[in-house]
Amino acid sequence: MENIKVLVRVRPLNERETHLGAHSCVSTTNNSVILYNKKEYHYDHVLGINSTQEQVFDKIGISTIESFLNGFNFCIFAYGQTGTGKTYTMQGKGLDGLQNEEIHFGLQPRLIQQLFVNLPKEQTWSIKCTYLEIYNEQLIDLLNDTKQLPLTIREDLKRVYVENLTEIVASSYNDILSLLQRGNNNRHVSATQMNLESSRSHSVFTIQLEQKIQGIYTRKSKLNFVDLAGSERQKLTAATGERLKEAANINKSLTVLGLVINTLAENSKRFIPYRDSKLTFLLRESLGGNSKTIMITTISEASISFQETLGTLNFASRAK
Ligand code: ADP
Ligand code: MG
Repeated sequence: MENIKVLVRVRPLNERETHLGAHSCVSTTNNSVILYNKKEYHYDHVLGINSTQEQVFDKIGISTIESFLNGFNFCIFAYGQTGTGKTYTMQGKGLDGLQNEEIHFGLQPRLIQQLFVNLPKEQTWSIKCTYLEIYNEQLIDLLNDTKQLPLTIREDLKRVYVENLTEIVASSYNDILSLLQRGNNNRHVSATQMNLESSRSHSVFTIQLEQKIQGIYTRKSKLNFVDLAGSERQKLTAATGERLKEAANINKSLTVLGLVINTLAENSKRFIPYRDSKLTFLLRESLGGNSKTIMITTISEASISFQETLGTLNFASRAK
């Protein structure tokens, strides 16, 4: 499907996996992933264990910003098991500027940089950003620095929107990067909690662009960066109470996302179940129709993750 592109990136074995005696069970070509030298899966782009952050940008960056400026809405998802590189691929490392780690900057800062390269110098445009988290089917505003109640999604004749969500005007690369960091800081308190919660929540960073075209009409487009909850199957058996509800919500929202993208990819007239999860309802205007979706799927090459990897690759295949 022209409007849906799938990119798979493989992370090399880490210390923990090596320590557990894992070996590599994944090999790659430019557009396929091969498991145990046997089963082969095809995608638009595949990046192997030695791929760089720059290579991720090179695959999709220029055309994405071009289309975004031409008025297309985008959803860029990162999907995969916890620890396989979703956040690394999307945001990267070192965004706090404490170390000079630009080679580790992810797709998001690189796209934002490209956006400002392409935007006209005279400010015939305006940009507003929002950043929220969906945790347990509740929406949390990451740009509101005070503790607050979950927000509500509303719908009127024209649009779907989140009531009282903080929108902040930005006019440079640095503006947007500092909003991203501010939201990241609001996301979690302690490091351990961070790992736990980031694997259980979706985050959505949105750039809304308005451009005056020939001084006459306004062109609007949205660029959404969605770092999804870990795709590992949440075990329903061991959990009780809140944890059970949470696990069920994660499974459900990823399943609904899969169904929505699958239906769009098939281009069928089938009913699209946007309303079945907060995430898809919120992103409805940026999924399907005149919108473009980029599914970035991350896997580990480790043999011990084989089952999760199979699940992830099948999800990615259904998006085609
Ligand atoms: P996720 O967001 O999917 O849970 P992270 O992006 O936090 O995973 O990545 C987990 C760890 O693996 C991080 O320390 C990250 O720097 C490292 N990592 C992720 N992807 C790669 C990669 N392609 N190459 C090298 N290291 C990676
Ligand atoms: Mg992450």
